[in-house]
Amino acid sequence: MTCDLANPIFTDEAKATAHMEADRWPDGVNCPHCGSLNVHKMAGKTQAGMFLCNDCREKFTVRTGTIFARSHIPLRKWLLATYLMAASKKGTSALQLSRMLGLSYESTWFMCHRIRESMKPVGVTPIGGNNKVVEADETLIGGKKKNRAFAKKEPKKHTVLTLVDRDGESRSFHVANVKAKTLRETIVKVASRKSYLATDELASYETIGKEFSGHGAVNHSADEYARLGGFIHVNTAECRFSLMKRAVFGTHHSISEAHLSRYLAEWDFKWNTRKISDGERAAIALEGIDGKRLTYRQTNEAANA
Ligand SMILES: [Zn+2]
Repeated sequence: MTCDLANPIFTDEAKATAHMEADRWPDGVNCPHCGSLNVHKMAGKTQAGMFLCNDCREKFTVRTGTIFARSHIPLRKWLLATYLMAASKKGTSALQLSRMLGLSYESTWFMCHRIRESMKPVGVTPIGGNNKVVEADETLIGGKKKNRAFAKKEPKKHTVLTLVDRDGESRSFHVANVKAKTLRETIVKVASRKSYLATDELASYETIGKEFSGHGAVNHSADEYARLGGFIHVNTAECRFSLMKRAVFGTHHSISEAHLSRYLAEWDFKWNTRKISDGERAAIALEGIDGKRLTYRQTNEAANA
């Protein structure tokens, strides 16, 4: 995908469909139901974009089995929304996007969450490893009372744990608390224990650190930000947090617990792809649409949970 907003895939539905088909099926169209390559394009106007599988006899389109499935929103708008979200460094609000796309706020809000879903990594391997430093840091995320027009009390704050490979990717999680047992569960699953762990002075990290090849902590409460000639610090994780906090406070104001993991996925995605171009980042987000269908029911169930 080029990062040119004048690209016809953003305005012409047939070109958007052709782009998606080429992207999803570079080696020929295959049936998302059974995997067969023995398929044919259906003729007739009402079946535009529809394929029929000669083996399982199921019909499908390029959207079937993706986050765009069963959506009545034109593909060209999905492509534009994905591009705008991936390209925006500070995050885009559903309200702003709905004006740009000419869609209702409700539809756009739902689209945004589906696109965030496509930014979640799949089948991930642990970060860090031999001779690698993984920083672990925790922060509180939540809206401020003054940003909410009619709020009587300050919105609830959520604890977020971020693990960053100093030369690689970041992974963030919503955690219930910062007790050693809670943090350990995530840390040992996400980071290779062959790594060196760098943290702040939080006592929970002391025991967890013993499971790693090494552990160093800086004492922030004593105004200490780096030790051992600058080797022990959590500045990478803090930089990663500040990026997200600007987005949360600047764009979204407050984030509900039910949807937090998807926002975290968006911000990890942006961090992990920060060195590539906007167009390349959008292309990676589009690759993630396959097999990650998120239905209205799932989002509502999460919201009511
Ligand atoms: Zn089939």
